[in-house]
Amino acid sequence: LWGEACATLETSVGPNNFNHWIKPLRLTGLESGIAHFVSPTRFISDWVNRHFAKDIIGVLSRPGQPVERLRFDVVPQAAPGRARSAASGSAASVRPVASAAAPATTRALRADLGAPLDPRYTFGNFVVGKPNELAHAAARRVAEGGPVGFNPLFLYGGVGLGKTHLMHAIAHDYQMRHPAAQVLYLSAEQFMYRFVQALRESTIMDFKGMFRNVNMLMVDDVQFIAGKDSTQEEFFHTFNALVDQGKQIVISADRAPAEIKGLEERIKSRLSCGLIVDLHPTTYELRLGILQSKTEGFRAQQPDLQIGTGVLEFLAHRITTNVRVLEGALQRLFAHASLLRREITLEVAQECLADILRTNDRKISIDDIQRKVAEHYNIRLADMVGPKRARNIARPRQIAMYLSKQLTSRSLPEIGRRFGGRDHTTIMHGIRKIEELLSEDKAIAEDVAMLKRLLEA
Ligand code: ADP
Ligand code: MG
Repeated sequence: LWGEACATLETSVGPNNFNHWIKPLRLTGLESGIAHFVSPTRFISDWVNRHFAKDIIGVLSRPGQPVERLRFDVVPQAAPGRARSAASGSAASVRPVASAAAPATTRALRADLGAPLDPRYTFGNFVVGKPNELAHAAARRVAEGGPVGFNPLFLYGGVGLGKTHLMHAIAHDYQMRHPAAQVLYLSAEQFMYRFVQALRESTIMDFKGMFRNVNMLMVDDVQFIAGKDSTQEEFFHTFNALVDQGKQIVISADRAPAEIKGLEERIKSRLSCGLIVDLHPTTYELRLGILQSKTEGFRAQQPDLQIGTGVLEFLAHRITTNVRVLEGALQRLFAHASLLRREITLEVAQECLADILRTNDRKISIDDIQRKVAEHYNIRLADMVGPKRARNIARPRQIAMYLSKQLTSRSLPEIGRRFGGRDHTTIMHGIRKIEELLSEDKAIAEDVAMLKRLLEA
């Protein structure tokens, strides 16, 4: 049955997909509308479930005996490269699950221990720029799985800067290179949940065994276990056991280990043994790169998509905090464009995204800007709004005006009011002056870029 099905599937999904994803599977049973498979890795079964479930269900269904769902047990192969030949997938290869090496409880546990990986989070989809190049390079290195790695790799950074994306990319890439390896990705919250569940169900030995048997363990958002004592304790032991066996660990958090309050010192120091890299807040260039790459992806599906000039630049400029928000904005624009069959002009974008643009603005206030700029140039905050005209005061004030226009949605008269009741033409003059200087004076350009980064962080 599976042998015939395979021949059909090979034509319908193409030989590459077939060899990579479907050939490693073994059909182990077919009952009550559920087809049971054994897959060598969770990655493969997740992928098949997402991409080829319909095809498989189609070829396995018989009149009056529809197949509704696929179920996978993950059983690693004894040796890498021993993928079963699909051509020999006659009745003989349809073996009962019980003959597989691991005991049934262990297999079931492993199959639902980790979290599924998002197939869109790959290295190929990750746009590299200054703020993330180090994290990206370290992630690549770890994914290669060679001897010159870092253990653990600790990635940290603010929300939406790509930590989870990089972790999934490592898992995909590593799994591709080492198909027989067990890669386990989960959030610290899931780790705790599984741990507590194992305690409650007295399966703690299985739990420990499962975790200690993986080749790569990835725990996302580890700050979550801070203050949770028994979970920390278990995490610590798991961590040590794996590192001692030379297994790779990848951890992410929203801040550096030393800064996680409520995390035991010994864990902090363990976490700091490998490489710690941070993802910096995005720059304008990186945001624009991400937007361009997502737009290309979208255009591949929707070739008649029309985006006016300056729209992506506008978004990169105005939505600065979180890549997820940036993506959301772009998706909304695309939906808008394809539903209304309209070009996305700057005006359309402004109107369609008004709410997002507004929330994003709330992040930076004119007060923040004045304070940061005064601090940077070592002048008094009062001078920002005061009357002094000396260059060493007036120039920083103009920079603050310029940044207020760039980083907030305040109008010129509003900005004028906040700068000691100056007229809007004075503000405009100040902004023009800085715009001129940005192309002429490298030191000022650098100062402005740095202040912007600080304010947007
Ligand atoms: P974090 O885990 O740091 O909060 P995520 O990895 O979930 O952030 O990223 C949020 C969203 O932004 C995801 O959809 C991710 O694909 C996207 N993203 C973040 N950084 C990049 C990047 N450099 N290139 C492409 N997409 C990115
Ligand atoms: Mg995340």
